[in-house]
Amino acid sequence: MLKLIIFGPPSAGKGTQAQRLSKEYGLPQVSTGDLLREAVAKQTPLGAKIKSYLDTGKLGPDDLIVQLIKDRVSKPDCSKGYLLDGFPRTMGQAKELDKMTDIDLVLNIVVDLESLVERAVGRRICKKCNAVYNVTSNPPKKTGVCDKCGGELIQRDDDKEATVRNRLKVYQEQTAPLIEHFRKKGNIVDIDGSKGIDGVYSQMMGAIKKLDK
Ligand code: AMP
Repeated sequence: MLKLIIFGPPSAGKGTQAQRLSKEYGLPQVSTGDLLREAVAKQTPLGAKIKSYLDTGKLGPDDLIVQLIKDRVSKPDCSKGYLLDGFPRTMGQAKELDKMTDIDLVLNIVVDLESLVERAVGRRICKKCNAVYNVTSNPPKKTGVCDKCGGELIQRDDDKEATVRNRLKVYQEQTAPLIEHFRKKGNIVDIDGSKGIDGVYSQMMGAIKKLDK
């Protein structure tokens, strides 16, 4: 059983790393952002409720997000553990998670917030498989086409500069304080997010191996 949180500001590379770790360990990546975008695309009742939050970069209501996570991690594929990506994001969510389960390790990607605007604006994701690219730092082989599945690459609506700035502000105000919460629990390790995709990944692997699981 291995339960990890990939933590960090928006566009720090949480999704990219979670996808790699997911492959390596055979554990599902549980991304609240992906689940919410899927709900919006499928026009489910949840999607209708959450769309305006996604569009403006605000956080969705805790009760709704916690329920989404509870439903997701109770699925059979999560029985051996999972990688949380984008959850928890508020103190309320962190406390609910504490009630739900014990987390082995929080991998905290530390990056300079200013560099993130540029990263976010250059980010492209695959419409079909959610693979993440960046037009400058991690481009696909063929412009606009996913290397992994051939799907169409799109820019997320919330990766426009004004929304990105708002998401960073939300991160600083509501999410960054969780770092202190994890430090008190003693299960957090800082990862230098400026080291490129492979460099970040190897730091994460090193930290997970130390868990001795
Ligand atoms: P992400 O893909 O993780 O950047 O998430 C995209 C958007 O989904 C965020 O800007 C929020 O509007 C919403 N969202 C994702 N995860 C959460 C969460 N844990 N709590 C509240 N809102 C969330």
